[in-house]
Amino acid sequence: MAGAIIGYCILGIVLLLIVVMVVRALLQKKPDPGKSDYSPADISADAVAEKLAGAVRIRTVTMPDNDCDGSVFYEYQRYLEETFPLVAAAAEKTLINKYAVIYAVKGSDESLLPAAVLAHQDVVPADEEGWEVDPFGGVIRDGYVYGRGSQDMKSQMIAALEGLEVLLKEGRKPRRTILFCFGHDEELRGTYGALEISKYLESKGVRLEYVIDEGGTILDGKMLGIDKKIALIGTCEKGYADFVLEVEKDGGHASAPTRRTAVGLLAEAMYKVEKKKMRPHWTKPTKEMFKALAPHMNFGFKLALANRDILSPLLKAVLCLVSPFTNCLMRTTMAPTQAEGASTPNTLPGVARGTVNCRINTGETVESTRQYIRKVVGDKVKISALEGSIDPSPVSTTDSEAYRMLEKTITEVFSGYIVAPYPFIAASDAKHYYNLTDCVYRFTPFEKTVEDANRIHGLNERQDIGMLVQGTRFFKRLYENTAF
Ligand SMILES: [Zn+2]
Repeated sequence: MAGAIIGYCILGIVLLLIVVMVVRALLQKKPDPGKSDYSPADISADAVAEKLAGAVRIRTVTMPDNDCDGSVFYEYQRYLEETFPLVAAAAEKTLINKYAVIYAVKGSDESLLPAAVLAHQDVVPADEEGWEVDPFGGVIRDGYVYGRGSQDMKSQMIAALEGLEVLLKEGRKPRRTILFCFGHDEELRGTYGALEISKYLESKGVRLEYVIDEGGTILDGKMLGIDKKIALIGTCEKGYADFVLEVEKDGGHASAPTRRTAVGLLAEAMYKVEKKKMRPHWTKPTKEMFKALAPHMNFGFKLALANRDILSPLLKAVLCLVSPFTNCLMRTTMAPTQAEGASTPNTLPGVARGTVNCRINTGETVESTRQYIRKVVGDKVKISALEGSIDPSPVSTTDSEAYRMLEKTITEVFSGYIVAPYPFIAASDAKHYYNLTDCVYRFTPFEKTVEDANRIHGLNERQDIGMLVQGTRFFKRLYENTAF
């Protein structure tokens, strides 16, 4: 009898739990988009494509250090000033650390904090081999502008400037100051450019309303049970470290090998690093991302996410498995990328070395990642970090007028898209601006195919012209919503 009562009690509790979970899922409501008076701006596709093509033709390849001859960056800046004459006439220009530049377009209301629009002038190198066109030819073909930097990121710079040029041409004047901050070494971490710009602004006592930079992405929602496109705004950046693992062992001739070899031990260490992944966890940006997406998901996903507190271990496991993208949102990733042994095939090397590329999640650090690898590979493997390690950035707030306006602008220009914050998994200049505002956002307003995205830093990089027009509308509308 007592057993039956306990059984009924357990059944009752389980049923109650299921009811609570279902109710929580049903309570996930889509936000009200609100009213909008947006109508798409008339942008000439030919003109804006030609402006981008002209920018691509100037070879602003990142210089290894700031003492090189960077006169090509002055040529590039002259090109921008000739191509956007109204912006140039309205702007006060300040060169920073020789080649980085701020164009400050003054607003009429000094009580408003300036907005900073970031872009980098530099591009990664490209030699002609394997390209269908001259990588610096600025070729326009089949609805695309081809060339190095056409996506990363002269397209965003041209769209951002053209958006303001169009508004000035309409005779309108900004109320809020807009600072165009263009570094010249983003592809080498931005320490000569973006970092110096942000230090300069800090020294002048400048605080910013918001920062917008490249990053973020537009995703197909299918993998998360959403039948729409998702526009992701990067509110933070993962940290970065390259750890070199090194194993020393007696070298010699490979005809009489020792029981264990340096290469064998290194391979074992690399295998352990790959196998024993760091634990996934919920960070502020991943929680915020799934909170924003949950109301739009199919019922299964919605049920799971609305009950994240109950189903957390299961959910984490699923997200780590479902795709490399959701996996890297949830944890620090460690990818073995390089390995080196003897220089000839018949020699046992005295040293074997390998590199592990780590992208560090919010809440962890370069040092905690090093300690984790130490635990995994044991004491016999030497671990050192290459130059360029950086801890994860702070996380920007989504509870700000600037975030709400950015979200509004995206839903106006890209109708039907769902907007969510997320942790940006690559690196950009934006990480250097957290000293000036709590609102550092990354968004690239161009939808792209996976194939086109893979051309960034690769062969035949190209920018879809239709998207370039759409990106220009995005910036124009962003200024209207936040600065006019
Ligand atoms: Zn870039």
